[in-house]
Amino acid sequence: MTAEDKQNLFPSDISFNPLLPTASDPDSSSPRPPLPPGMLPRDFEIFIKHLKEILGPDYVFRTDDQVAEYSRPFLHSPDGECWASAAAAPADLEQLRKVVALCQEHRVPVWPISHGRNFGYGSARPATSGQIILDLQRMNRILEINTQLGYIVCEPGVMYSDIKQHLSNQDAPFWISLPDLGPLTGPVGNALEHGVGYTPYGDHFLSTCGMEVLLSDGTLFRTGTGSVSESQTAHVYKWSLGPYLDGLFTQSNFGIVTKLGIWLMPEPEQTLPFAALLWQDDAIAEYIDATRELLMKNLIQSTVTLGQFRCNLNQLGPRRHLWKEAGPVSDERAERIREHIGAPVWTSFGALYGNSNVVSEQWKLVKERLNAIPNLELVTADNLDSYPYLGTLFEHRSSSMRGDGYSELLEETVGWRENGGIVWFSPVLPTIGNQIQKEHELAKRIILDHDLDPMTGYIVRERYVHHLISLVFDRTSSDERTRVQRCYKALLEAHIQLGYPVYRAPVTMMDMVAETYDPHLRKIWSRIKNALDPSGIIAPGKSGIDA
Ligand code: ADP
Repeated sequence: MTAEDKQNLFPSDISFNPLLPTASDPDSSSPRPPLPPGMLPRDFEIFIKHLKEILGPDYVFRTDDQVAEYSRPFLHSPDGECWASAAAAPADLEQLRKVVALCQEHRVPVWPISHGRNFGYGSARPATSGQIILDLQRMNRILEINTQLGYIVCEPGVMYSDIKQHLSNQDAPFWISLPDLGPLTGPVGNALEHGVGYTPYGDHFLSTCGMEVLLSDGTLFRTGTGSVSESQTAHVYKWSLGPYLDGLFTQSNFGIVTKLGIWLMPEPEQTLPFAALLWQDDAIAEYIDATRELLMKNLIQSTVTLGQFRCNLNQLGPRRHLWKEAGPVSDERAERIREHIGAPVWTSFGALYGNSNVVSEQWKLVKERLNAIPNLELVTADNLDSYPYLGTLFEHRSSSMRGDGYSELLEETVGWRENGGIVWFSPVLPTIGNQIQKEHELAKRIILDHDLDPMTGYIVRERYVHHLISLVFDRTSSDERTRVQRCYKALLEAHIQLGYPVYRAPVTMMDMVAETYDPHLRKIWSRIKNALDPSGIIAPGKSGIDA
């Protein structure tokens, strides 16, 4: 199926990423969607009839191909597993409330998505079979842009590109922080999943303030001071009288977020992006410790990224262009390529922001600290020409640190293999150099032991580091799919043993990851679930939480 064929399956205001795979097995047809659990076919037909009455027939999707478009992600599991029964796309809050009331009445589970581009974690696919995907991309109104206080309030279907366009139309000197794949996605889904970006506002949930939430019993409420009538502080002050609730609606299945306030970063007078090139493998520990100090002192303000050449070979093109044999590229081959193109062992990016006099003083301090590390070179726009290998990378990273996305990254990553699939393993670690150095070696060894290519990068902040590990494989190979599953489990066990938890999980691994958390905490999740969604119709299985 071509991208055009795919788009023809849906009305023009429902969009899909043309990159999404068409089938796990290119020759296979789409599987029949399952029924919601415990539902008889006749009852499902009645339910669908009512759904169409609410949304109109064009916005209820239930053909095999339509459901496959929603259910078929890059994941390792075969088609048919965790498959939706149908998808429904409400245009506004009123329709959404009616849909949720109908699902409550018929006890049909719904999996809310904002855009469904949660790629290596399952895209739009639900955690259990038979759920209705509640596609909120048509609820795409920007409700407020406040250019005095620097915030925006939007519905789940708003995309980062809509916000950037709005800011530019109003000549508003603000940035929104984007994840790498920002141009393809929106801020609500990303912030609710605890996603990250590269500007100083890069911890995306931290930059949210004030929600509106719909519960399965129809209750609609605003969190925090937004619940006081005529409140002027709903999106500027996170706390309020009583407990802070917003976090309950992230990575959970307690409610559906219908509006979200997001803080915008004032555009700085100057941005100074830089790259640090490390020519020696073991300089990494010292570099991370130095970076932590500089981030904590607020001398570097961006998120810092860090990747080893051997683990970023995908940036050079598909594997078949670099390596003719089966299995992962060997260390020797990777090293020869590195020497040939004159690339450093590790490449890191960061940025400084602010008034130009302040930035220039800060840069002196950053240089002084980083230049104390042996075999390290610093590159800025001024000397970039001397490093031809860095050119496009520098451009991409500089733009993401200015609040622009880098959507080619997905293509580069899944393009590593033909029929590329991707599963993201994402542990968090403290920002301590020698721990990260050892963990990198360990993760690399586990991935190579499973005959896969290590493809990883670090996202470094003041106190914590995300290690984003992409397990990239050929979706048509059941052997590779099995190895990915085994590799994920082995990585999980090894990280948990060292005290490095996983902060976000693919839908097929949610139970496995949830089991690494204390049963007492999980019981509390269940008790909250029972209180807020006792019939368990919202996203059963999300983060391993059930009623
Ligand atoms: P993106 O906007 O990046 O494509 P998704 O729409 O895939 O993100 O959302 C990621 C996950 O976040 C979903 O699988 C779902 O679990 C949760 N989610 C997204 N939007 C909402 C929402 N409005 N309310 C509750 N949960 C949501």
